[in-house]
Amino acid sequence: MIIVLRAGATDEDVRQIEETIRGNGLTAHISRGVERTIIGAIGDERKLNPEALEGLPIVEKVLRILAPFKLVSREFRKEDTVISVNGKTVGGKALALFAGPCSVEGRDMMVGIAERVASARATFLRGGAFKPRTSPYAFQGLGEEGLKYLAEARDRTGLPVATELMDPRDIDLVARYADVIQIGARNMQNFRLLTEVGKLDKPVILKRGMSATIQEWLMSAEYIASEGNQKIILCERGIRTYETATRNTFDVSAIPVVKSLSHLPVIADPSHAAGKMALVEPLAAAAIAAGADGLMIEVHHQPEKALSDGPQSLRPDAFTQMVARLGKVAEAVGRTL
Ligand code: PEP
Ligand code: MN
Repeated sequence: MIIVLRAGATDEDVRQIEETIRGNGLTAHISRGVERTIIGAIGDERKLNPEALEGLPIVEKVLRILAPFKLVSREFRKEDTVISVNGKTVGGKALALFAGPCSVEGRDMMVGIAERVASARATFLRGGAFKPRTSPYAFQGLGEEGLKYLAEARDRTGLPVATELMDPRDIDLVARYADVIQIGARNMQNFRLLTEVGKLDKPVILKRGMSATIQEWLMSAEYIASEGNQKIILCERGIRTYETATRNTFDVSAIPVVKSLSHLPVIADPSHAAGKMALVEPLAAAAIAAGADGLMIEVHHQPEKALSDGPQSLRPDAFTQMVARLGKVAEAVGRTL
């Protein structure tokens, strides 16, 4: 349920309504907009009396949220959410650009690639230290050593770092190094993991599960938000269909659909969708044209030798050239890159 307060509501007004909500066993989530304060009452709504709330002089109206996801819905928050991390943003007019290798493979490669993507307008670094690999015999990531190289790359470039968390047992370790925590496609419905990152005060990239519907994806975002962390960046990375020409099928329609259903920023990862470097740019262009708030691109200095996802990784030069061309697409839809 959404309780919209009249302009001029004081902290004391908010506190009293919060108390009523909590007293009935629901949780209260406050959203302070420029003009209005909105209180989300989440839980068993039957315990609250909407007429009584609407009768309070400071309450303008009480609305039921029809979508099964509440806090992440557009109904709860009309304005787009903009997430800021050390001076970089996700969700505003400027597109966010996460770039870096699939896996952190060593110090020199991580710092080297970071410097190249930083000079090509990347706004965040990416790199996996804990890798969700299909085969237990494949490279699993460098773990903490990889996180240290990411931190060094951040210090060198000034760019915030996004890296994947696979297991709740590693949350303190990963959160110590990462500026943004990535939940991978394979863990989109790992509800314990979602609950744990929901308790952090750190942005979370929630990748779409490879066979998740948009509603399931948003319900997973709701798990994170319901624990208090509303700094969620959704990432469309392709879904599994009958088509085998691409690694996954890039669901471009998910971008405007999610933007209409949710206030959260949505970025696109054409690298994992395509699975092939030649397809990264057209899918990236489509994502920007469709309204994505940013991109996540895998970059490797020697894709043929990469320990993971080489075939879809762009060389730094190709990345630089692609970003310049994509800038024109961004401009055409009123964004900047
Ligand atoms: C990744 O970002 O390297 C990754 C494993 O992505 P996904 O979870 O989308 O497969
Ligand atoms: Mn990858």
